This record gives sequence, structure tokens and C-alpha cells, in this order.
Amino acid sequence: MELDARQRAMLEEMGIRVWTPIESMSEDALAFAESAPVPVPGPLGSDTRLGSGGPTLPTQTRSVPTPVPAEAKSSVYAEPASRALPADIAAMGWDDLETAVAGCQACGLCKSRKNTVFGVGHRQARWLIVGEAPGENEDLQGEPFVGQAGKLLDNMLKVLGRSRTSDDEAQSVYIANVLKCRPPGNRNPAPEEVLQCEPYLRRQVALLQPRIILAMGRFAVQSLLQHSVPDVATLPLGRLRGQVHRYEGVPVVVSYHPAYLLRTPQDKAKAWEDLCLAQSLM
Ligand code: SF4
Repeated sequence: MELDARQRAMLEEMGIRVWTPIESMSEDALAFAESAPVPVPGPLGSDTRLGSGGPTLPTQTRSVPTPVPAEAKSSVYAEPASRALPADIAAMGWDDLETAVAGCQACGLCKSRKNTVFGVGHRQARWLIVGEAPGENEDLQGEPFVGQAGKLLDNMLKVLGRSRTSDDEAQSVYIANVLKCRPPGNRNPAPEEVLQCEPYLRRQVALLQPRIILAMGRFAVQSLLQHSVPDVATLPLGRLRGQVHRYEGVPVVVSYHPAYLLRTPQDKAKAWEDLCLAQSLM
């Protein structure tokens, strides 16, 4: 993908070096480089809760776990579903689906959430970005990918001319998580919780009909590719990058979670390659 000086400056500012030679910056590019925020790892919470997918991380574990209080473990740790999912999810429109999620009590996560995190962006966007589960900030704000990890994602998308706030469906993205409620204590999602919540994401994909799905992080990848990639749960995320997978017929590109990239900046260039692959499929 050809990049102009401004795009290269934006990537440089994020710590992403591309192979094309850096030419002298335009005034615009210099202004951006001076004003853009520098992503730094934040406190434990939404940015560090997940971020799975690095090649050195052990499978199914988080590198910086936050202790779960004993009372939280006993009350909400992968507690069985208290109520069934609505039977008609597959027939719901956007508004009914969002209302159903807001009132969902189909797994124990409903007891500790402050807000459900349904998704954000244009509902006819061509790009769907799927993350894993809400962290602390997402739970508080009811929006996926906020905080420093969200800023990094937004900045990378900006280089491609895409934004979660764009009114133009060709330039917008829709962002959703596999889980709509925050696992308490920043623990990993339990398999039964992912299974229980999956119909909501599947319906979002059916309504959105994206042209490309970008799966960010281990749990997003495992959830989306569980039926198409044998042993996906045991494969390092890096082994799944650089290929085009499928979910419900939609091309899927695998990448690292932005929170992981904040801790492992040397892999930002790989994430940029993943975005370029997704862009090339458009
Ligand atoms: S995580 Fe999903 S299935 Fe569980 S309560 Fe929230 S919306 Fe319902």
C-alpha cells in the first residue's frame, strides 16, 4: 500500500515503522506528529485486561492478571446462566438486539456489569472489528475499545482513512466484542460465557454484512474461528496471521489486540501489516 508523508508520519508517531523510505514531512505531517498522543500502557483495566495474542504469551493465559476477590469468585466466576437467551435473536433488528443485550441475564456476568457493551460505529460499515470482552473503562462507558488501547486502534484506523465515528459507510468501522459484559476482576472469559453470548455477535454480523472482519486478540480469534480452524484454541495467534479465514462466509483477518501492542510495541508493525491485508481485501 502506498503511503503519503502524512500517513507515514502518523505511523511513525505510533511507533510503527514501514519499509518505505521516510521522505521529508509536510507541514501537516509534522503538525500531526507533534500533536498526536503517544500511547503508553495505562493502569490495569480495560487496556491491559486482554491484549492477548502475543507469540510469547502462554496459551489461554493473561500476562498481567488482576487478582479476583474471593467474594467475586464465589459469586460471579463463570456462574451458570440464570436465564435463557431470547429465542428470537436470529430475527431481531438492530434496536431490538441492543435492547435484548441491555437486559440480558443469560450468564453470571450480568450480576457484576455496570453497563452492557453492545458495539459502536456505523451499522452499515464495511469493516467489522471484533475484540474480546469489555474491560473496566468499557464497562463504565458502555463502549468497546476506549482508553489508550482504543486510541491506538483509532489512530491506526485513521491512517487508513477509517473511523468509528464516520457517517460514511465506506470509511466507517463497526466495533463489537465477543462478550457484551465485563468479566469481573479482569479475568479471562469462560468458554461457557463466550458460547452463551455468541448469538448476539452472530446476529450483529448478519445485520451488518461486513466485507471484512478484523479479529483482534486470542479470544476473538478463537470464538470466530472455532468452527473453521481445527485446534484453534491451541494455536499461537501469530500462526493464524497473514491468512484469510472465514466466519459465516465473511473474510476474517487475525491480528493482535491493541492492549497487547501497548505492551509489545515491536509487534505494532505486524499489526499494521494485518490492517494492510484487510485493506487489500476491500
Ligand atoms: S455476557 Fe452476553 S450472555 Fe452474558 S449476560 Fe452479558 S449479554 Fe448476556
